[in-house]
Amino acid sequence: MVRTILLGPPGAGKGTQAERMIEKYGIPHISTGDIFRENIKNGTELGKKAQEYMNKGELVPDDLVCEIATDRLKKDDCKNGFLLDGFPRTVYQAQKLDEFLAGRGEKLDKVIDLEVSDEELMKRITGRRVCKECGATFHVVNFPPAVPGKCDKCGGILIQRADDNEETAKNRIDVYNRETKPLVDYYEKSGNIVHIDGMISPDKTFEDIVKVLG
Ligand code: AMP
Repeated sequence: MVRTILLGPPGAGKGTQAERMIEKYGIPHISTGDIFRENIKNGTELGKKAQEYMNKGELVPDDLVCEIATDRLKKDDCKNGFLLDGFPRTVYQAQKLDEFLAGRGEKLDKVIDLEVSDEELMKRITGRRVCKECGATFHVVNFPPAVPGKCDKCGGILIQRADDNEETAKNRIDVYNRETKPLVDYYEKSGNIVHIDGMISPDKTFEDIVKVLG
């Protein structure tokens, strides 16, 4: 049973670590960004609303995000734990999440804060490529696919996320520093946050996460 949050700026490696964590701990991976992208792909009303903000690297309004996240947390597969990735992103969202969990007699076990410098984040975000079919993530320099432009896992076409261009990425990092970083202090007060160096390697980061979660 693990109830945890992966905190950290865009490009810190939350998605990569989440893939490994869900396999090890058997908990569902809840990424609000993935939920929005799925809705955009399917042309839903929610997708249309979210896309306006996402394309600019801005945050989707709190109430909309909170509703989506808590609806997802109400599903049966979250009874024995969950991994939140990209939610909460504001102090308001964190408070809403705490209220939601308290209402069910639950609380977070750990908040994992992945630390990466802004300069490294830019390199990671702009070089990131994702598979259009299965969502697997690659990097043009750090983790290139065997065949350029093709997914190693399913052979799908690799694309750049619409918000991974330089201008939007820079704004996303600024938004993170302004809106989301205050969450570190918020969780520092509850004493359940751990800081993990996300600069060394994905393997080392995962090793450190497992040490913390057990
Ligand atoms: P991500 O995949 O986590 O990098 O999220 C991509 C984009 O989705 C963000 O830049 C925001 O526009 C939007 N988004 C995802 N999660 C949230 C959230 N918790 N609060 C506000 N906006 C979000």
